[in-house]
Amino acid sequence: MQIPVLAYHKIDEPTADIKLRGAFTSPKNFARQMSYLKKCNFEFYTASELIDFYRQHGAFPPRAITLTFDDGWKDNYTNAFPIMKKHGIRATIFLVPSCIGQTTARVVADGESERQHLAPEDILEMSEYGIEFGSHTLNHKLLHKASDEEVEFEVTESKKEIENLLCKPCRVFAYPAGFYTDAAQNAVRRAGYIAAFSTVYGEQENVNLYALNRIEILRRNRFLFQFARTIKQLRS
Ligand SMILES: [Zn+2]
Repeated sequence: MQIPVLAYHKIDEPTADIKLRGAFTSPKNFARQMSYLKKCNFEFYTASELIDFYRQHGAFPPRAITLTFDDGWKDNYTNAFPIMKKHGIRATIFLVPSCIGQTTARVVADGESERQHLAPEDILEMSEYGIEFGSHTLNHKLLHKASDEEVEFEVTESKKEIENLLCKPCRVFAYPAGFYTDAAQNAVRRAGYIAAFSTVYGEQENVNLYALNRIEILRRNRFLFQFARTIKQLRS
């Protein structure tokens, strides 16, 4: 089964120092992709709404799609949000609370320069509009390398911080760089999240709500026909 969840990274043009250019989708291409999804009559769900539906019905809603963004980059607000507002599209962004309001190199690839994260006021404005915010750990900790105590801390503290900022429940989680273990899945479940996403891309035989695959949208999807081919697997 293909989980109808797209994974985006940065909605921006890569700068000269960038090594992983694949993680960038240009604002122009993002706009085209959103127009395409609307034209195909997809219905946009936040991650929580999608999972709530699955838990009630044992299947995903027909024509459903969920957009997710990891790391909480400022470009999600400056570049993606205006396009999503124009189309009435909602999505889910996974935040690293220790990076909120900061320009830091903590989450970038080795050798890349600092990059700006969402500010609290950006997050509040987007939340007011209907964007959902999930957790991506407190410090972008790679959970397969962390002790049980660290995993517990990263998973629970990030949830608290996001809930304190938004005054709304933080219900979904994405593993930094996609790394998870059985212990991490259990910690996420115990903390009260309803689902967690990996960065495994492609079909999944059995739906594991604490290790959900996504469909990665990369720079190589820059021509609309490539994006359309990627999306086609959701329409069969
Ligand atoms: Zn990340």
